[in-house]
Amino acid sequence: MEVEGAVNAQLEKQGYALGRKGVWGGPQKTRYYRPDGIMVEAIPCMRERQDGLVYDWNISGKGWSLRPPLKPKPHCEGCGDWHDTKAQVLACKRERARKQVQWEAEMAERRNQKGSDKEKALKAKNEDLEARLKKLEELVSGKAV
Ligand SMILES: [Zn+2]
Repeated sequence: MEVEGAVNAQLEKQGYALGRKGVWGGPQKTRYYRPDGIMVEAIPCMRERQDGLVYDWNISGKGWSLRPPLKPKPHCEGCGDWHDTKAQVLACKRERARKQVQWEAEMAERRNQKGSDKEKALKAKNEDLEARLKKLEELVSGKAV
């Protein structure tokens, strides 16, 4: 890691700085740290609140910070966020899996419901047709009117 640090320092001195100094004229990037401690180079995402306060969405929205976190948090592939403990990550993933299964069951039920609604409509249509056919037969045979 020390070698990597020295190489980075050398590159930085030469102006490469992982694109931070805008050697190629691009927007200036800032070094952030994700809650799990992984370093990210990104362009600050400045936004303005209605009251005029300007803030960086990378920090207030994404939860990144300018300094490495003292206590890195585990990243959760389930929700894409960070939780305080690995147990919470597991719980989050389990909860999401449970919700997914529940949602799929609901969808399947809804499909079945739709199927039976269609069946009911067809049956009603069929009964209506039968009634009209009966009336027609009566008319033809001269029983009615
Ligand atoms: Zn999660």
